[in-house]
Amino acid sequence: MLDIQFGADYYPEHWPEDRWETDAKLMREMGLGVVRMAEFAWTRLEPREGEFHFDWLRRAINLLGKYGVKTVLGTPTPTPPAWIVENHPDVLAVNSRGMRVSFGGRHHNCQSSRVYRSHAVRLLEAFTKEFRDNPHVIGWQTDNELGNSHDDLCHCPSCRTAFQDWLRDRYGTVEELNRRWGTVFWSQEYDSFRQVPTPAWNVTAHSPSLLLDWKRFHSDLVCGFQQFQIDIIRKNCPSHIITHNFMGFFDLLDYYKLAEPLDFVSHDQYPTGFFDNPQPGKTPSALASSLDLMRGLKNKTFWIMEQQSGPTGWTILGRTPEPGQLSLWTAQSVARGADCVVFFRWRTCAVGTEQYWHGILPHSGRPGRRYGELKETISRLKPVMGEFRGALSGAEGAILYDYEQNWSLEIQPHHPELDYIKQVQVYYDAFHARNVPLDFISGDRDFSPYKLIIAPLIYLMTPELEDKFASYVKGGGRLVLTMRTGVKNNDNVCLTERELPGRSGDLLGLEITDYDCLRDINRAVSWAEATGLSAEKWCDIITLRGAESLAEISDGWYRGNPVVTVNGAGKGKACYVGTEPNGALALKLADYLIGEAGLEPLARQADGLEVIRRRGAERDYYFVLNHGPEEKGFTPPAGWEPLSRENGAVPPYGFRLFTLRR
Ligand SMILES: [Zn+2]
Repeated sequence: MLDIQFGADYYPEHWPEDRWETDAKLMREMGLGVVRMAEFAWTRLEPREGEFHFDWLRRAINLLGKYGVKTVLGTPTPTPPAWIVENHPDVLAVNSRGMRVSFGGRHHNCQSSRVYRSHAVRLLEAFTKEFRDNPHVIGWQTDNELGNSHDDLCHCPSCRTAFQDWLRDRYGTVEELNRRWGTVFWSQEYDSFRQVPTPAWNVTAHSPSLLLDWKRFHSDLVCGFQQFQIDIIRKNCPSHIITHNFMGFFDLLDYYKLAEPLDFVSHDQYPTGFFDNPQPGKTPSALASSLDLMRGLKNKTFWIMEQQSGPTGWTILGRTPEPGQLSLWTAQSVARGADCVVFFRWRTCAVGTEQYWHGILPHSGRPGRRYGELKETISRLKPVMGEFRGALSGAEGAILYDYEQNWSLEIQPHHPELDYIKQVQVYYDAFHARNVPLDFISGDRDFSPYKLIIAPLIYLMTPELEDKFASYVKGGGRLVLTMRTGVKNNDNVCLTERELPGRSGDLLGLEITDYDCLRDINRAVSWAEATGLSAEKWCDIITLRGAESLAEISDGWYRGNPVVTVNGAGKGKACYVGTEPNGALALKLADYLIGEAGLEPLARQADGLEVIRRRGAERDYYFVLNHGPEEKGFTPPAGWEPLSRENGAVPPYGFRLFTLRR
């Protein structure tokens, strides 16, 4: 990883050139070492087809370089210029009702369009060759927030043909597709791939199998849209890094696949939410989980490419971060694995859609409260960040997070409020409250480093995954499977060979012969003396086949039904949770699992403080974060040494940093 800790997103094209040097000086004084530039600057780089204007950008890069600020360049493919659209209107995307989107905004292009890609190739070939030897340019960001394209995926003729070709690659013959999708239902059997529609607007819902493949196809399409750009950059700039700015739990793409060809992941972290979603702020746990997911995509530390640096807003504004909050959120990003934090944006822009998406500097360009606060934060964090660069958390527990489970449950959520990501969050929140770190892992990862794996809603099941779960448990692991495990195969078709949850029933020691979608009702749950426990949205009606019941439903016609169970298998244990637990039930379960798996909380008496670790080669680094408006006392455990002179209580929206020699 590079020896750069902080930066800003910079748009020199928005400001007069005689201002640039003032910006460069202020950046250096603040401690910034990198800018990201040009990811939306196509018309300034190529105002007419084949006419390249790189001089202005070279002057900006070199001027910043003189002040010690390196550059990451963005490929400007999210903003096709009007001159391309004028000549080739078919590069514009088409929604599911057949309406073509208008030019304007960004991401209005279809990502399968050969015409659009040929324009992008011409620009990127010239752009990458122009800057490959510039000593101040260190790397590239592909596009911007890929997948953040359309409310509706593109249904144009090019995408429809690409979808049909994708299906041919997957199924080989149309007969095989008919068999696996079960197109006999409602006479949807096809004679050729060319008959298969995109899931465009129709009278009722499309086939669940078609809908899931459409999501897979679209994800692969966008990954391919990134890959041709990566191929050009790798060829022309072999010494440069390549990254992309991801968006936490955004779910239109399989982020594991998008991350795979990159050197590292970058993330856009906006704690007060987005332009259309003004809110009092995401919970500290929700912020933490986004960062942990970003670390999990490659099991590697990452960059923040856009860290909130002021109020956010397009038409509606979010809350203004209180004094300390920008600093606190920056520390949280670093604590959970960011090796470099780039603030969005340097200066609040005066023009365009994002006039109120505030930067470090206000519209006036004069350093104010936000500049001062972040400068001070940088001076605290920067000197120590090199010591734990590349260091992970050392989590011994993990949540299996899977995009296809999410997609299949988006297609059929069962309960109107069932949401895969929210259910994952219920489990994550409970461990976050206990300061027990978790990783996010894909089903492809090696399970053996973990003492505990929680795998919520493994709705699509394969024999390979069933076997992997079984051998993990028999080898000594603790596994949690939940409601709706093993319902369907990968074609989104229900499994019929056994009662639910299929072969995993042997591992779990139970069988599910009935279930209840908890519409407009929750069920009370009893587990020893604990109070306030409830089952929400769904309840499996479980017959024990060797498992022990830990908690039961305590009202209604299936009162006494086991709802949390445990079964020993080999050296390990497998738990089942036949519902979506409410917060209290999830916390009770987390306490049980922490004891059962022998997980160690990072700090036991933390009084609501968030405690996070980065595990260096010889020393551990502990961050203690106070997300509240009141000062909180904290007594560091034995051996923890404060990394700075600051000591004692953690101030409101403040943080403390400790180290422990191992
Ligand atoms: Zn299209």
